[in-house]
Amino acid sequence: MSKKYFYIFTLILFPLFFLTSCMTTTTAAGNVGADRKQVMLISEEEMNQSAVEAYAEVLAEAKKAGTLNKDPATLQRVQKIAKKLIAQTTAFRSDAVNWDWQVNVITEDTINAWCMPGGKIVVYTGIIDSLKLTDGELAAVMGHEISHALKEHSRERASQEALQSLGVSAAAAVLGIKETGTQLLGLAAQFTLGLPFSRKHETEADHIGTELMARAGYDPHEAVTIWQKMEEVSGTSVPEIMSTHPSHASRIKDLQVIAETVYPLYLEATKQTK
Ligand SMILES: [Zn+2]
Repeated sequence: MSKKYFYIFTLILFPLFFLTSCMTTTTAAGNVGADRKQVMLISEEEMNQSAVEAYAEVLAEAKKAGTLNKDPATLQRVQKIAKKLIAQTTAFRSDAVNWDWQVNVITEDTINAWCMPGGKIVVYTGIIDSLKLTDGELAAVMGHEISHALKEHSRERASQEALQSLGVSAAAAVLGIKETGTQLLGLAAQFTLGLPFSRKHETEADHIGTELMARAGYDPHEAVTIWQKMEEVSGTSVPEIMSTHPSHASRIKDLQVIAETVYPLYLEATKQTK
């Protein structure tokens, strides 16, 4: 092999081949077309294990502070909505209904909710109370958060980070990450709670989440109103949830289109329950 071809192989073809082999589709398209291919270098198992540990820490802290599941009625309300949404995840991936889903409520003024990889949910009472959420709006928020987990956005972002720090031509070395499991500690928390999701990920979570809520029997138009409410309150002080879920000018318009797209699913779902 001449030097030139050697370089073409090592610098272009091999990394390209390597990245292609790491391409995966975490979810089916659904009615909203959410089957984008993603590059995943970090394994799902490692990411989920990291989430299990981070989630346990959050719950332990809340328990210590006496803020964990203080109000049984709110907990029941949140869990009931979550259950309905989780049942609909089969539209996007077949394994998710069997995840070890956990849903907890923390009494704190913060306007926030999140779902860590593998289905570990926390809803803060601040978002329910200060925005006076209806069940449909709560379903929209949780549907959005669940969608980040279904699409494994945290794992994708952690993978992107690993790729960037190592450089594309050295990407093969990433495989070595497997042996240094301790480095992965905190990954789930960092990429779910700490850093803002990209615009692409936000749009995807909006789309999947709105379809989930419609399939679960909640009017998808409430996905529009909740994010409108959120933008209104950010005029005074930015809610915690907006710092990790940045909104953009075209978001409301996009949500309106998606709400119309999935509206027939809502009609179908409510017809069945009547
Ligand atoms: Zn988001």
